[in-house]
Amino acid sequence: MISTGRFTIELRKLVHYRHNTCSICGQGLVRGQPAYAGYNALERPVYTGECCRHFVAELASHIYWWWIDYPRPDRETMIWRYMDFAKLVAMFKDRSLYFARGDKLGDPYEGARGLASREREWKDYCLSFFRNAIVTAPGNNGPVPEEELASRSKQMYDDFVITSQRDRLLNFVSCWHSNHVESEAQWRLYAPSLPTGVAVRTKFGKLDDSLDQRFDVRGGFVQYVDYSNAFAGTYDKLFWKRSSLSHEAEVRIVHQQTQLSEPEVFGVSVPMDINNALDAIIVSPFAQDWFVDVVRETAKKFDVSTKIEKSQLLSEPFF
Ligand SMILES: [Zn+2]
Repeated sequence: MISTGRFTIELRKLVHYRHNTCSICGQGLVRGQPAYAGYNALERPVYTGECCRHFVAELASHIYWWWIDYPRPDRETMIWRYMDFAKLVAMFKDRSLYFARGDKLGDPYEGARGLASREREWKDYCLSFFRNAIVTAPGNNGPVPEEELASRSKQMYDDFVITSQRDRLLNFVSCWHSNHVESEAQWRLYAPSLPTGVAVRTKFGKLDDSLDQRFDVRGGFVQYVDYSNAFAGTYDKLFWKRSSLSHEAEVRIVHQQTQLSEPEVFGVSVPMDINNALDAIIVSPFAQDWFVDVVRETAKKFDVSTKIEKSQLLSEPFF
């Protein structure tokens, strides 16, 4: 069957979240073996291995996966975002979720492949990979002259580096904290004006469903890694951070654009059905009662019906 290359956003999402399981029977897909992404006779997206291949009426593409690059959140994963009040008001006003451009997130390692001190090692590895690809390409008639081999592999490496650097500008990110419970540390880190801080809490699936489906977004758990002994791959580098940040327990949602925006565009607002996106809005444990009222009244003014609660973190103990 010839692949058509037609990927709807729905099919992309299915492949992303299913990754290693058949979407029809739930069986595990075998790494390194072809899986089939496409549509069934009713035009519904399907992603399957040999087990249910006969259901594929249109093949979009073969997919090969080799390792679990980063785990995907499931629909029930509880996520939080701690922020100052101004950002909440902006969310109400715009009825959208803000995604910041990769290079504007404040982490110098955002989208990095590895440590600069190991770049030479990485380059040598890539060059030998590209040389091998050129030599073993089907249709080669005889050996490739050394000069040509050197210049073609260098050209491939340079293109690869340019693509990697562009990725920081093409990817826009919304960062969330994954936790079953509220976190005092997050209040201190991300709601710096504590008495007027707020947090929003939801489940990953609920948020994902509420985002404008015309935007291609994908979620994943951030992997906290030691860059001194690892290089990030093309797709996982967007989900890698230094181990020193592991307290963030981040789930991030990434929106990738296909074309560079104007340089002054630092973020993208993805329209969101705000009344279905959130489970609750939590007001800082350090806030006074007047501020809780301000949050309630502001929500009402913007027709936001999400439940608003004062944090119980500082409820009085007894001894
Ligand atoms: Zn199956």
